Amino acid sequence: MKFDVLTLFPEMFEPIKQSIIGRATLKKILEINLVNIRDFSKDKHKHVDDTPYGGGAGMLIKPDVVYSSFKSIENHENAKVIYLTPQGKTLTQKKVEELANEEHLILLCGHYEGIDQRVIDKISPEEISIGDYVLTGGELPSMVLIDCVSRYITGVLSKGSTYQESFEGDGLLEYPQYTKPEIFEGIQVPNILISGHHENINKWRRKKALEITYNKRPELLKKANLTDEDKKFLAELNISLSD
Ligand code: SAM
Repeated sequence: MKFDVLTLFPEMFEPIKQSIIGRATLKKILEINLVNIRDFSKDKHKHVDDTPYGGGAGMLIKPDVVYSSFKSIENHENAKVIYLTPQGKTLTQKKVEELANEEHLILLCGHYEGIDQRVIDKISPEEISIGDYVLTGGELPSMVLIDCVSRYITGVLSKGSTYQESFEGDGLLEYPQYTKPEIFEGIQVPNILISGHHENINKWRRKKALEITYNKRPELLKKANLTDEDKKFLAELNISLSD
């Protein structure tokens, strides 16, 4: 999968050169190409921003530099273009799975007060937010998007499947996990997990996932894909889905 990122601060993208995403780019499973919008300034001082018409605080990124940087991307006509903005639809796991089916994403990062509206209208990107709060730039949101979408690309995660993680599959939060040592600070790992009985382990995990989802994010339980056995278990715990 290819990501082209239009940004004024390519040096901010160090974190995704590390760990799992970094390894996937080295293996060429992912291609992450950082395009510096400033390189497209025709100004001798390489200015890329100016004050807003009509007044107001802060600076806006000029439309011409953004448009030239966008058009410099090979095959931009066929790519899916995303503008990371607090005004966009909030990113969800469902959207992440959908984006992972794309072959080429172009991510546009705003900065300062944002970007001149005319170039947004011209490019007409899908607008995505990572939450209802305002950051200083679209660089962190872009990295968030690259990271979560990349997990779905074959070969990026060694285990292959993303099935039982929180939000994935049936829409529950994940069950609690434990590793060695078997006893930590006097606390024993749940016996069931060292029983070797896989069917019972799976049942225990499912129940824990249901309990945790109910306790932490009850609204998710209402939308989750539940089996009759799940519903029976919830009823035993006096958990009603209609509350
Ligand atoms: N003036 C804009 C507004 O009020 O909607 C906010 C601009 S923000 C300070 C600068 C840039 O950061 C935005 O253009 C966008 O690219 C990025 N950004 C800030 N918060 C974001 C969020 N929650 N999700 C995605 N991008 C965000």
